[in-house]
Amino acid sequence: MLLRLESTLPRSDRDSILLLCKELGYTTRFLGGRQELLELSGPGAPDHRSRLADLAGVVRVLDVGAARELHERATGSGDTRPDTIVRIGDAVIGGGNVSIIAGPCAVEDEGRLAEIANAVRRAGATALRGGAFKPRSSPYSFQGLGAEGLAILGRVKALTGLGVVTEVLDPRDVEAVGEVADAFQIGARSMTNFALLREVGRTRIPVLLKRGFAATVRELLLAAEYVLSGGNEQVVLCERGVRGFDSVTRNLLDVGAVAHLKGATHLPVIVDPSHAAGRADLVRPLARAGIAAGADGLLIEVHPAPGEVHSDGAQAVGLDAFARIVADVRALCAIDGRTLVTSQLSESPANGGFQ
Ligand code: PEP
Ligand code: MN
Repeated sequence: MLLRLESTLPRSDRDSILLLCKELGYTTRFLGGRQELLELSGPGAPDHRSRLADLAGVVRVLDVGAARELHERATGSGDTRPDTIVRIGDAVIGGGNVSIIAGPCAVEDEGRLAEIANAVRRAGATALRGGAFKPRSSPYSFQGLGAEGLAILGRVKALTGLGVVTEVLDPRDVEAVGEVADAFQIGARSMTNFALLREVGRTRIPVLLKRGFAATVRELLLAAEYVLSGGNEQVVLCERGVRGFDSVTRNLLDVGAVAHLKGATHLPVIVDPSHAAGRADLVRPLARAGIAAGADGLLIEVHPAPGEVHSDGAQAVGLDAFARIVADVRALCAIDGRTLVTSQLSESPANGGFQ
C-alpha cells in the first residue's frame, strides 16, 4: 500500500500513523527524501484502506496494494476475481448471464399483480418485482400496502413460481420481508441506511442494492461492502440514474458507471431504466444503453393500465413495449456472446432482432 502524507505533518502524528501500520502487520519505509510517501509492505486486509485513509495526516491512499476490499475485482495477489453469479428464483445474474426483473412499482391489486406476473414471465422476465413498502419522498404519498402487500406477493409467487424482489425499508422488517422475498431491494433512498445494510448482510438472501441519487460509485461500493462484510455475498448493484440539472428525464442514467463497475467489481450490475427515464417512452432506449454498456440485467416497471396506479404510473411500460425490450436485450446479448436467461414457460419471440 502507498500513502501520501501531509507535508507539514507534526512528528507526533507521523509516529501515530507508523505505529498503527505496525499494529496492522506492515513494515514501512518512506520513499524519496521528504517524508510524504509512505510505502507499506505486508499482508493487507479489507478494512485497512478505510482505517488508514481516515487518519489525520493521511492525504490519500495512492495504491491499496494487497488491502483489497471484498467487492473488488482485483485480489491482493494480483489475480482478478471471476464474476459473482446471483440467482433470484429462475433469474441468473452475472457471469455472462443476463436476466430481466419486472413488475409494477407497488403491489396494489392481487389480480392485477398475478396478471402482470404471468405476462412478464411469458415475455421473458425471470423475477417479479413489486413494492409492499414504498419509500416515498412525501409522507402523504401512497406508502404501499405493507404486510398485506407481502401476503399478496407470497400468493402470487406460489401461483406463478416467479422469484420475488421486494423492498425492505426498516431493519425491523427484514425478517418478515425475508419470508417472502427471494431478493431484498434496498432503494436509492436507503443506500446509506447502514443499520439496514448490516441487517440484510446477516441474512443469506440476495440483496439488490440501488445507487443513491447523489451517491458516488465509491459510496455505492462501500454500501455493498456493508452487506458483504456481514457474510452475505449475494449482492447485485443497480444503477437507476443520478440527479441531474435537466428535467427532461427524471434522472441521468450513468452508463459510464455501469461500464466502470463491470471492471472494478466482481458483483453483478443491473440497470433500472424506468426510474432513470421517469417516462415510459424512454425506457426502451435506456434499457438498450444499459445492456450495451455491460449490465447483467434490467429492472423494469410494467403495468397494463398505468392510469390505475398510485406510484410511478408515467414510467410504466405496457406489455407489448416490454416484449420489445426483451427482444432488444436478446439481440444485444447475442452480439457479445451472453445469454438472456428466461424461464421455461416463457415464449420465444418470433422476432428476436431490433425493430
Ligand atoms: C422503486 O424501485 O420503485 C423505487 C422507489 O426506486 P428508487 O429507490 O430507485 O427510487
Ligand atoms: Mn417505482
